[in-house]
Amino acid sequence: MNNWKLETIAVQSGYTPENGGARVVPITQSTTYKYNDAQSVADLFDLKREGFFYTRLANPTVACFEGKIAALEGGVAAVATSSGQNANLLSIMNIARCGDHVVALSSLYGGTISLFTNTMKKMGIEFTFVRPEATTEAIEAAIRPNTKAIFGEVLANPELVVLDIERMADIAHRHGLPLIVDNTFPTPYLCRPFQFGADIVTHSTTKYLDGHATSVGGVIVEKGGFNWSNGKFPELCTPDISYHGLVYTENFAACPYSAKMRAQWIRDLGTPQMPFNAFLTMLGCETLHLRMERHSENAQKLAEFLLAHPKVSWVKYPGLPGDSQHEMAKKYLKGCSGVLSFGVKGGKAAGEIVMDNLKLAAIAVHVADVRTCVLHPASMTHRQLSEEELIAAGVSADLIRVSVGIENIDDIKADFEQALALV
Ligand code: PLP
Repeated sequence: MNNWKLETIAVQSGYTPENGGARVVPITQSTTYKYNDAQSVADLFDLKREGFFYTRLANPTVACFEGKIAALEGGVAAVATSSGQNANLLSIMNIARCGDHVVALSSLYGGTISLFTNTMKKMGIEFTFVRPEATTEAIEAAIRPNTKAIFGEVLANPELVVLDIERMADIAHRHGLPLIVDNTFPTPYLCRPFQFGADIVTHSTTKYLDGHATSVGGVIVEKGGFNWSNGKFPELCTPDISYHGLVYTENFAACPYSAKMRAQWIRDLGTPQMPFNAFLTMLGCETLHLRMERHSENAQKLAEFLLAHPKVSWVKYPGLPGDSQHEMAKKYLKGCSGVLSFGVKGGKAAGEIVMDNLKLAAIAVHVADVRTCVLHPASMTHRQLSEEELIAAGVSADLIRVSVGIENIDDIKADFEQALALV
């Protein structure tokens, strides 16, 4: 095992060509794999040996991608999924079943709130939402005997609250629970949550890891070392009848959570990541460090520009010294990423004028790619939420979210200047 720094991991890890092999990871666009004898395939089915037999479970290109992400996060294993939404769903389903409960920090992406409050409720898994700044006592009070995890976003979309990962990990571990964090906005380049005590990291790889808005995908990464045998997670440490009595904590002692994830959920629900998406996202990862630095630098400059603008009523960006999250950002983030939010004097209607007149920044239901774009969460991504849920998720009616790209910052500022001039 080498001692590479993150930039080198981003470029080099995941795929090592053999002598004379393709320099760039090949796309194995094949559903199946050929074997010469029946026993080899039987052993693969029994998980007795590693290899590929069907792309719904595993694929060589996707495996390289999983290796790269595991290395970037510093985890023992990663499982790629069809989307970020699926990654968050499976991260919980892997350890909670009907009748169980999860504590979630309430500043979350709207789709995640919807997933937790509606869809997973129908599956019998109940969530209690707690504000991330709630006292330790209040968070502990939400934990029940059937609670299976604490879940939060490292840099919340779109509220831009920075999670106090160490505090949440301490609380979780005191109660024998894993801390699961969605690290989509910072990416492992700006924050490596395992170093602060998180146990599982999820990503919408659709965002900065791809970085070019080409591929929907997700990934779940396991840190390793969590005590799944503490009595709360029997499915990980007792025989799995769907695999001839295999016990994940014994047969896959280094990465039982990931082994179970692939063997049960990816297999049965059929939500793997596709090889071409994994290929494109791996390409994106190779420039992650360069892009995240420029995204953070441009967002900082645009935040400062908007803050000084007479037509702007407020700006939210953790990189601003006056921001409520500034100290937390200094502790956990190497840069504050490319997303900021702001309000225009005159409220929602004035904000719409600005959005409609931006020329370089497009209105797009996306964040985190190289092109600057804007979005109005209350009427778009968070549209399904009730008034109370919008307030809990920190989404005001006038909030415009900007995903600052890596274009020249002078051009980005000029675009906002001309649009604001029309209000
Ligand atoms: N997590 C976060 C923080 C997100 O911002 C998103 C999407 O915007 C998701 C999860 C869901 O990811 P996907 O759109 O890839 O399903």
